Amino acid sequence: MTLPRFDTVTLPAGTAAWRAEVRAFMATHAAGLAAERRANAWSVFDAPFSRRLGERGWIGLTWPKRYGGAERSALERYVLLEELLAAGAPVGAHWIADRQSGPALLRYGSEAQRQRFLPAIARGECFFCIGMSEPGAGSDLAAVRTQAVRRGDGWVLRGQKLWTTHAHRAHMMIALVRSAPAGDKRHEGLSQFLVDLASPGVTVRPIVDLAGEVHFNEVFLDDVPVPADMLLGVEGQGWAQCTSELSLERSGPERYLSSHALFVEWLRHEAAQGAVGEAVCNAIGQLTAELWTLRQMSLSVAARLAAGQDPALEAAIVKDLGNSFEQALPRRVQALLGDGRSLDGDLPLARVLSLLLQISPSFSLRGGTREILRGIIARGLGLR
Ligand SMILES: Cc1cc2nc3c(=O)[nH]c(=O)nc-3n(C[C@H](O)[C@H](O)[C@H](O)COP(=O)(O)OP(=O)(O)OC[C@H]3O[C@@H](n4cnc5c(N)ncnc54)[C@H](O)[C@@H]3O)c2cc1C
Repeated sequence: MTLPRFDTVTLPAGTAAWRAEVRAFMATHAAGLAAERRANAWSVFDAPFSRRLGERGWIGLTWPKRYGGAERSALERYVLLEELLAAGAPVGAHWIADRQSGPALLRYGSEAQRQRFLPAIARGECFFCIGMSEPGAGSDLAAVRTQAVRRGDGWVLRGQKLWTTHAHRAHMMIALVRSAPAGDKRHEGLSQFLVDLASPGVTVRPIVDLAGEVHFNEVFLDDVPVPADMLLGVEGQGWAQCTSELSLERSGPERYLSSHALFVEWLRHEAAQGAVGEAVCNAIGQLTAELWTLRQMSLSVAARLAAGQDPALEAAIVKDLGNSFEQALPRRVQALLGDGRSLDGDLPLARVLSLLLQISPSFSLRGGTREILRGIIARGLGLR
């Protein structure tokens, strides 16, 4: 059996000052955000806020300066992200580009693609979405049926993507599509393309979720022209390229902080009650210990990613445990409040609790379901 590795990480010198700078910015720019808007903050789309972060150089923080980055360290970026998320900053517009589309362009993109997209992403002006899932191809991603067919010097794309977060507001999508028929090896013949969502033939149809919000979509691609220079990386290597993003997608602080606004509101509520009972004290201690452990694990993955490793096993463990934590938190708080029905529905605590009770089931679906992650973990441990 192979044991997962979670090394203890020491944050670099100067982190405290950097953290204070981010907190000071948030105190001015996000003061007064409603509690329910601070929940699940990395999905909340706010283009002007992203532009403000871009002006400060806080998007693409680790990227080379020649592409609009700030050449800061991965752990400084971690501090930035955890502070933004803990404060409930609406970072959803640029989140995907900052987390994985930009790094994919740095790793696999042509020089022209990097020049065109990375500075615009870093300015908070160009937003990306992920075109992986399709009807019939979610967990079984290699089953994607959207096709790229050669036409003239370029390609046309035909098919449908599903659950595409922010496709109705993003400029670009990185789509995983089949560019050659599936043979014996289904993972071969897949390629990634940079698709301009303003292209003819693209139809984006929003899907309303349980809470009445629109953030993900169906995307129909009807003979969408894609120039040859918008192939990302190597034709036929889409599977390897796409799966190499997954550790970035699965291990960050967003995987355990989606319900953090509720934790904060609940602590405020309990503090305002005066005497705090033993059950609540125990729960606060337990939840804080869980949160802190998750943070250490997530930080450890960030450090390994920065060292050029791909800790896919550890990233899957962080996502599974982190999602379990942020998903259980609303129900735990509800139970401790004596089911919460006595709460005034206008209280910030009641509003954020209600929202998270509705949306938290999705936390263990997006980015790979619990069952799929546990399969990866079992394989990584050598158990299957
Ligand atoms: C909020 C949200 C945002 C999303 N955003 C995006 C996005 O931006 N881009 C994108 O491409 N996708 C996105 N997705 C899609 C997400 O990645 C898929 O929903 C997920 O991968 C599961 O795929 P599926 O929905 O087709 O379910 P299925 O694959 O049909 O799975 C259904 C159930 O069966 C289980 N299951 C499936 N296969 C196995 C197996 N082999 N062993 C055991 N159990 C199994 C699953 O765990 C799940 O419980 C988003 C999803 C959500 C909920």
